[in-house]
Amino acid sequence: MKILGYAAYSATAPLAPFQFERREPRADDVVIDILYCGVCHTDLHFVRNHSGFTTYPVVPGHEIIGRVVSVGSQVTHIKIGNIVGVGCMVDSCGHCHSCSHGQEQACIEGPTFTYGFVDRRDGMTTYGGYSERIVVSEKFVLSIPDSLDPAGAAPLLCAGITTWSPLHQWKVGQSSKVGVIGLGGLGHMAIKLAKALGAEVTLFTRSIGKEADAFQLGADHVVISNNAAQMNQVANTYDLIIDTVPYAHDVNPYMDTLGFEGVLVLVGYFGPLEPAVTAGPMLRGRKVLTGSFIGGIAETQEMLDFCGQHEIVSDIELISIQGIDEAYDRMLAGDVRYRFVIDIASLRQQE
Ligand code: NAP
Ligand code: ZN
Ligand code: ZN
Repeated sequence: MKILGYAAYSATAPLAPFQFERREPRADDVVIDILYCGVCHTDLHFVRNHSGFTTYPVVPGHEIIGRVVSVGSQVTHIKIGNIVGVGCMVDSCGHCHSCSHGQEQACIEGPTFTYGFVDRRDGMTTYGGYSERIVVSEKFVLSIPDSLDPAGAAPLLCAGITTWSPLHQWKVGQSSKVGVIGLGGLGHMAIKLAKALGAEVTLFTRSIGKEADAFQLGADHVVISNNAAQMNQVANTYDLIIDTVPYAHDVNPYMDTLGFEGVLVLVGYFGPLEPAVTAGPMLRGRKVLTGSFIGGIAETQEMLDFCGQHEIVSDIELISIQGIDEAYDRMLAGDVRYRFVIDIASLRQQE
């Protein structure tokens, strides 16, 4: 079927309309008319080819909310008319150790990502949520609780699960002291989720002026990360820090703020750590430096259900697709409060 989307044709050109083919639905497929799509910093990395492996044209978008318009004969749980979500993955091998333990994001063969990859079954390029319709195997379609505003729920599909997964893995609860580095899409979800789990939450930000918002989102404390005196005051404090910063940065000052056996989880940056990380604090304080990557499908549904119970959605700025380049520029400048979400109805106003 022919689909209208919005694509980047190169690392420098503005995004523009793009017609492409989606597969004919298979027996296990769900066909979804997209209503909203969140704008993740990963979209920006892809569009501007920060990692060097983007193939163009790329239709970004992996925080997808839509309405089901048809289902294949083998689909059991999802019904026509349901409001559903699709996140960063649309398939995986299904049989490796990771897949059989609900960790599809760590599929040994590599998951099929929602955009910019090759579908493992038919070899077609995957195109994401900046488009009017998507076809996805039921296994990778999430149910969205009725209590959640659909536009605000879109960012849960990536920013939500990416921050939920380490909070869950490291058993954050009532007595936990949690730090969050960077107040953007991931950071603001980390604050909301950690708070809802009962933790005492500190935001580390380089941006003077975000303090009031941080408190509103649920943070108990704010530390300006380039203020050495403020950093010293919180030395040896945290059980868990979630670091959402998208670019190379010095993690040593944050390691010093971890308590004994504290854990710093990188979720934002995939490249070499510069400057190098000093081992001493890790040895003396048994501190852990680790990372986390989105989360499994079952875990994503658990997070969505938790958000449904606690009425947690993202704080969004709804934009039209025509405003996407400006949204990227603002995101790069740290000026996003706190997730852009595209109203996909604007795509059809294009022509
Ligand atoms: P975002 O909305 O742009 O937020 C990032 C925040 O980090 C900014 O608001 C800013 O907060 C801080 N920041 C930005 N540039 C910085 C710099 N050069 N130095 C220090 N702080 C900086 O981005 P996002 O959508 O949350 O994504 C964050 C990163 O996570 C991206 O790299 C994205 O690709 C990655 N990601 C990873 C996963 C995963 O599975 N691990 C999933 C989704 C996204 P302050 O102004 O408060 O300092
Ligand atoms: Zn993302
Ligand atoms: Zn697998």
